[in-house]
Amino acid sequence: MAEAKDDQRLEAQLDQAAATCQRHGAQLTELRRQVLRLVLQSGQPIGAYALLDQLRGARRGAAPPTVYRALDFLLAQGLIHKVERLNAFIGCDEAGHGHAHGPEHPHQFLICGQCGSTAEICDPATLAALKAAAARQGFVPHRTMVEMEGLCARCVAATADGNATAA
Ligand SMILES: [Zn+2]
Ligand SMILES: [Zn+2]
Ligand SMILES: [Zn+2]
Repeated sequence: MAEAKDDQRLEAQLDQAAATCQRHGAQLTELRRQVLRLVLQSGQPIGAYALLDQLRGARRGAAPPTVYRALDFLLAQGLIHKVERLNAFIGCDEAGHGHAHGPEHPHQFLICGQCGSTAEICDPATLAALKAAAARQGFVPHRTMVEMEGLCARCVAATADGNATAA
Protein backbone atom coordinates (compact mmCIF):
# COMPACT_ATOMS: atom_id res chain seq x y z
CA MET A 1 0.00 0.00 0.00
CA ALA A 2 2.70 2.39 1.02
CA GLU A 3 4.49 1.53 -2.18
CA ALA A 4 1.43 2.27 -4.30
CA LYS A 5 1.17 5.64 -2.59
CA ASP A 6 4.84 6.34 -3.28
CA ASP A 7 4.26 5.41 -6.92
CA GLN A 8 1.34 7.81 -7.08
CA ARG A 9 3.39 10.58 -5.57
CA LEU A 10 6.20 9.88 -8.02
CA GLU A 11 3.86 9.93 -11.00
CA ALA A 12 2.32 13.20 -9.75
CA GLN A 13 5.81 14.65 -9.47
CA LEU A 14 6.59 13.52 -13.01
CA ASP A 15 3.35 15.06 -14.30
CA GLN A 16 4.32 18.30 -12.61
CA ALA A 17 7.76 18.11 -14.22
CA ALA A 18 6.10 17.61 -17.62
CA ALA A 19 3.98 20.72 -17.00
CA THR A 20 7.08 22.71 -16.01
CA CYS A 21 8.81 21.70 -19.25
CA GLN A 22 5.76 22.66 -21.27
CA ARG A 23 5.74 26.09 -19.64
CA HIS A 24 9.36 26.47 -20.82
CA GLY A 25 8.35 25.39 -24.33
CA ALA A 26 10.13 22.06 -23.92
CA GLN A 27 8.89 18.50 -23.87
CA LEU A 28 9.42 15.82 -21.28
CA THR A 29 9.61 12.92 -23.72
CA GLU A 30 9.02 9.35 -22.55
CA LEU A 31 12.79 8.74 -22.35
CA ARG A 32 13.43 11.92 -20.36
CA ARG A 33 10.56 11.04 -18.06
CA GLN A 34 12.01 7.58 -17.58
CA VAL A 35 15.44 8.96 -16.66
CA LEU A 36 13.89 11.52 -14.31
CA ARG A 37 11.85 8.73 -12.67
CA LEU A 38 15.05 6.75 -12.02
CA VAL A 39 16.82 9.78 -10.53
CA LEU A 40 13.85 10.57 -8.26
CA GLN A 41 13.43 6.94 -7.25
CA SER A 42 17.06 6.74 -6.17
CA GLY A 43 16.46 9.55 -3.64
CA GLN A 44 20.22 9.96 -3.35
CA PRO A 45 22.78 11.11 -5.91
CA ILE A 46 23.08 8.52 -8.67
CA GLY A 47 25.80 8.27 -11.33
CA ALA A 48 25.19 8.22 -15.08
CA TYR A 49 26.37 4.63 -15.44
CA ALA A 50 24.14 3.36 -12.65
CA LEU A 51 21.27 5.12 -14.45
CA LEU A 52 22.27 3.52 -17.71
CA ASP A 53 22.26 0.07 -16.09
CA GLN A 54 18.76 0.63 -14.75
CA LEU A 55 17.54 2.13 -18.01
CA ARG A 56 18.75 -0.94 -19.89
CA GLY A 57 16.23 -2.95 -17.90
CA ALA A 58 13.49 -1.08 -19.76
CA ARG A 59 15.32 -0.09 -22.93
CA ARG A 60 17.69 -2.65 -24.32
CA GLY A 61 20.55 -1.10 -26.21
CA ALA A 62 20.37 2.26 -24.43
CA ALA A 63 23.78 3.88 -24.93
CA PRO A 64 25.65 6.43 -22.78
CA PRO A 65 24.85 9.38 -25.11
CA THR A 66 21.15 8.60 -24.68
CA VAL A 67 21.45 8.99 -20.93
CA TYR A 68 23.73 12.03 -21.10
CA ARG A 69 21.42 13.86 -23.48
CA ALA A 70 18.44 13.19 -21.23
CA LEU A 71 20.42 14.31 -18.16
CA ASP A 72 21.51 17.52 -19.93
CA PHE A 73 17.89 18.30 -20.69
CA LEU A 74 16.76 17.64 -17.12
CA LEU A 75 19.64 19.77 -15.77
CA ALA A 76 18.73 22.68 -18.06
CA GLN A 77 15.12 22.45 -16.90
CA GLY A 78 16.23 22.61 -13.26
CA LEU A 79 14.52 19.28 -12.54
CA ILE A 80 17.74 17.63 -11.42
CA HIS A 81 21.15 18.86 -10.28
CA LYS A 82 24.64 17.52 -10.61
CA VAL A 83 26.55 16.95 -7.39
CA GLU A 84 30.08 17.50 -8.69
CA ARG A 85 31.80 16.08 -5.62
CA LEU A 86 30.07 12.75 -6.23
CA ASN A 87 29.86 13.04 -10.02
CA ALA A 88 26.22 12.09 -9.65
CA PHE A 89 22.74 13.46 -10.18
CA ILE A 90 19.93 14.18 -7.76
CA GLY A 91 16.35 15.32 -8.19
CA CYS A 92 15.65 18.97 -7.35
CA ASP A 93 14.07 19.21 -3.91
CA GLU A 94 11.52 21.83 -4.90
CA ALA A 95 8.66 19.98 -3.21
CA GLY A 96 10.65 19.69 0.02
CA HIS A 97 11.35 23.43 -0.02
CA GLY A 98 7.78 24.57 -0.49
CA HIS A 99 8.71 27.33 -2.91
CA ALA A 100 9.04 27.49 -6.68
CA HIS A 101 12.43 26.84 -8.25
CA GLY A 102 13.02 28.30 -11.70
CA PRO A 103 15.35 26.66 -14.21
CA GLU A 104 19.03 27.08 -13.23
CA HIS A 105 18.02 28.30 -9.78
CA PRO A 106 20.77 28.80 -7.20
CA HIS A 107 21.29 25.71 -5.10
CA GLN A 108 23.88 24.39 -2.69
CA PHE A 109 24.48 20.90 -1.41
CA LEU A 110 25.19 19.55 2.04
CA ILE A 111 26.83 16.15 1.64
CA CYS A 112 27.03 13.84 4.64
CA GLY A 113 30.33 11.97 4.71
CA GLN A 114 28.91 9.27 6.95
CA CYS A 115 25.57 8.17 5.46
CA GLY A 116 26.01 9.79 2.04
CA SER A 117 22.73 11.70 2.21
CA THR A 118 22.77 14.88 0.17
CA ALA A 119 20.47 17.79 0.96
CA GLU A 120 19.73 20.69 -1.35
CA ILE A 121 19.47 24.14 0.08
CA CYS A 122 18.92 27.25 -1.98
CA ASP A 123 20.16 30.34 -0.27
CA PRO A 124 20.21 33.34 -2.65
CA ALA A 125 22.41 35.28 -0.17
CA THR A 126 25.22 32.72 -0.61
CA LEU A 127 25.19 33.16 -4.36
CA ALA A 128 25.00 36.96 -4.10
CA ALA A 129 28.00 37.03 -1.73
CA LEU A 130 30.08 34.83 -4.05
CA LYS A 131 29.13 36.90 -7.09
CA ALA A 132 30.07 40.12 -5.31
CA ALA A 133 33.43 38.62 -4.28
CA ALA A 134 34.05 37.47 -7.87
CA ALA A 135 33.12 40.91 -9.24
CA ARG A 136 35.67 42.52 -6.95
CA GLN A 137 38.28 40.39 -8.74
CA GLY A 138 36.88 41.38 -12.12
CA PHE A 139 35.81 37.78 -12.57
CA VAL A 140 32.76 36.93 -14.68
CA PRO A 141 31.13 33.74 -13.37
CA HIS A 142 29.35 31.27 -15.64
CA ARG A 143 28.41 28.61 -13.15
CA THR A 144 28.60 28.41 -9.38
CA MET A 145 28.82 25.23 -7.38
CA VAL A 146 28.70 25.21 -3.62
CA GLU A 147 29.03 21.83 -1.98
CA MET A 148 29.75 21.32 1.68
CA GLU A 149 30.89 18.07 3.24
CA GLY A 150 30.16 17.18 6.83
CA LEU A 151 27.70 15.30 8.99
CA CYS A 152 23.94 15.50 8.56
CA ALA A 153 21.74 16.21 11.60
CA ARG A 154 20.75 12.54 11.88
CA CYS A 155 24.37 11.36 11.92
CA VAL A 156 25.30 14.09 14.43
CA ALA A 157 22.48 12.89 16.68
CA ALA A 158 23.52 9.24 16.23
CA THR A 159 27.13 10.13 17.10
CA ALA A 160 26.00 12.04 20.21
CA ASP A 161 23.87 9.03 21.28
CA GLY A 162 26.85 6.73 20.79
CA ASN A 163 29.05 8.97 22.93
CA ALA A 164 26.40 9.12 25.64
CA THR A 165 26.16 5.32 25.71
CA ALA A 166 29.94 4.94 25.71
CA ALA A 167 30.34 7.41 28.58
ZN1 LIG B 1 16.88 22.62 -6.98
ZN1 LIG C 1 24.36 11.46 7.57
ZN1 LIG D 1 14.55 25.84 -2.60
